Amino acid sequence: MKDIPHLYSRFLVSSGVSTDTRKIEPNSIFFALKGDNFDGNSYADKALEHGALLAVIDDKTQTGESKMLVDDVLETLQDLANYHRKQIKIPIIAITGSNGKTTTKKLTHEVLSKEFKVKATLGNLNNHIGVPLTLLSFTAELDLGIVEMGANHQKEIEALCKIAEPNYGLITNFGKAHLEGFGGIEGVIKGKSELYDYLIEHDGLIFFNRDDDLQVEKAIKHKNYSIGEKPLSDCQVIFKEARPFVTVEYSNLTIHSKLIGRYNFKNISAAIGIGRYFSVDKEEIKVAIEEFEPEEMRSQILKKEGKNILLDAYNANPTSMEAALRSFKQMESGPQSVILGDMFEVGQDSSQEHLHILEVCKTLDFDDILVCGEHFSEAASAFDKVKGFKTTEELKEFVKTNKTQLSSNILIKGSRGMKLESILDVI
Ligand code: ATP
Ligand code: MG
Repeated sequence: MKDIPHLYSRFLVSSGVSTDTRKIEPNSIFFALKGDNFDGNSYADKALEHGALLAVIDDKTQTGESKMLVDDVLETLQDLANYHRKQIKIPIIAITGSNGKTTTKKLTHEVLSKEFKVKATLGNLNNHIGVPLTLLSFTAELDLGIVEMGANHQKEIEALCKIAEPNYGLITNFGKAHLEGFGGIEGVIKGKSELYDYLIEHDGLIFFNRDDDLQVEKAIKHKNYSIGEKPLSDCQVIFKEARPFVTVEYSNLTIHSKLIGRYNFKNISAAIGIGRYFSVDKEEIKVAIEEFEPEEMRSQILKKEGKNILLDAYNANPTSMEAALRSFKQMESGPQSVILGDMFEVGQDSSQEHLHILEVCKTLDFDDILVCGEHFSEAASAFDKVKGFKTTEELKEFVKTNKTQLSSNILIKGSRGMKLESILDVI
């Protein structure tokens, strides 16, 4: 049984939805989702005990007054979210891309909030569960909603678009992220472009980067608004410097951000462009960008034991790794060390991509190059100057006893699973 209007009537009198019995809100609707290591159905009773109004389950052996049996809990959550999206009717901006989605989403949220009531995806809730949860947190009172969409395989963005029905969309970039699931860079381009496909089919508007030829090719013939350094852009933003903080010029304004890394220029320009499209005052846009602080572990500058540490340990893939190395090099003229961890989900080109990153390190001539992880430690053997360790723990041990030899400027970057932020404990 899947009676969405009925479930929706319960949703309207509830305090919201919940998928975790540890964080249950009284009077909420509990969705018994399944994961690799758990089955939410077995927590339905607990959810009700903790005050849930209703538990949506798909385990036919369970009975109970406040339980709603459906064929598939996840599908029901997605259908409910889409039903709600249709009722609230607010304009929705979708943001996908290989890198910089969360940063761009937050910047855009700050800019638009200067003049509108806006809500955006919380944290990184950007997948087949996160997008429905985000939509269900939106209300008809909002002027705009911003939805981050993540994907690691084909057809995922298409599915998320069908749920969120965006009216506007932006692809931050086509980069070498999740290559494994997408089947190479061509696969990434195809997969991310599903957002464009959806917007084109539904008369939506594409925000695109004028400086990216591929985006120009894909978006130019459709309803669009372009952002970039090129004079032809609908919104022209000029990069000034990243030493270390990114400064840009827009119209007659110089905007000094608190973000580091040349790559953040694109994220900042996107937010400025979207703000201008919606007619946010230029001065207000400047204030919004200048006030914005980076999120935890995404290109943060920390000081520890007299060392300047650029902590970018939130995630890594070949594109963001190379961007981070090049921009780190431009930041300082003094000695620099880099501590890098494996890039996950790179697929069949993994060895090659890890070797390539070490080539880049060699060319940029860093003073110390320490790497860890299965792929990096293997690649390290081809380079004299690179010290390779199988695990983060082994690298930590080394840093602990040799930290005085490290330069005063250190970049730390690796995939989430490498947990490289733990290196801070020993510096
Ligand atoms: P996720 O796929 O985990 O949701 P995301 O796309 O939301 O990631 P962010 O969280 O905004 O990306 O940024 C993560 C890291 O990606 C940053 O710390 C930085 O190293 C890198 N990054 C951010 N923006 C860009 C960009 N435009 N180009 C290349 N790398 C970037
Ligand atoms: Mg994100």
